[in-house]
Amino acid sequence: MEKLILFIVITYLFYCIVPTFYHKWLPTKAIKYLANKNDIALTFDDGIDSIYTNQLLDLLYQYHIKATFFIVAKTIDENGEIIKRMIKEGHTVGLHSLEHKNALFHGYFYTKKDFEMSMSIMKKHGLHIRYFRPPWGHVNLFTLKYIKKYNLDFILWNVMVGDWKKSSTTKDITERLIKKARKGSIICLHDGRGRDKAPKRTIEALESAIPCLQSRGFNFVTLEEING
Ligand SMILES: [Zn+2]
Repeated sequence: MEKLILFIVITYLFYCIVPTFYHKWLPTKAIKYLANKNDIALTFDDGIDSIYTNQLLDLLYQYHIKATFFIVAKTIDENGEIIKRMIKEGHTVGLHSLEHKNALFHGYFYTKKDFEMSMSIMKKHGLHIRYFRPPWGHVNLFTLKYIKKYNLDFILWNVMVGDWKKSSTTKDITERLIKKARKGSIICLHDGRGRDKAPKRTIEALESAIPCLQSRGFNFVTLEEING
């Protein structure tokens, strides 16, 4: 019995825990590329949100900033106009899974469905997806198989400010953004989900943080611009 438990634990470790932490510790290609530039990439996960994503796009437009949106594929059908606006305004669209499920708790069949349905939805909306960020940054061995199959770039982040938390005030998010942003930052923020209308506070924080970061000479780039 003990041997069986040990076997299950070791299998689980190599199925998802080791691959997840390997990718979290290893700087991705985009992070390496940005390391010596005065560039910052704003990235937004968990949208599309029918209210907040549009408000965020208004703000980015106001400051002539382009960003990268990692989108939950199931939200696209109801928000086709927002996707069209993102593309028209020069933002990069990446994939953030089909319905925001955690890869640590899923096997082959769900992971297959997750990618196949997501890519099919993206294709239906005329989107050619190159970038993938898994929910919570978690992967399993099958996630890696499908990233390779669809020729996606695995993109994580190196700055996170806890903007999804109920306890994070607009002031907290603003201060963390200003303090943590440096050359080569890939900043992970959220325009959907989150506690207690969290994206509203994220947008309010960016209203103060963007001009401050611009005055420090940072350029804002998309993943597409990083990769040429
Ligand atoms: Zn997410």
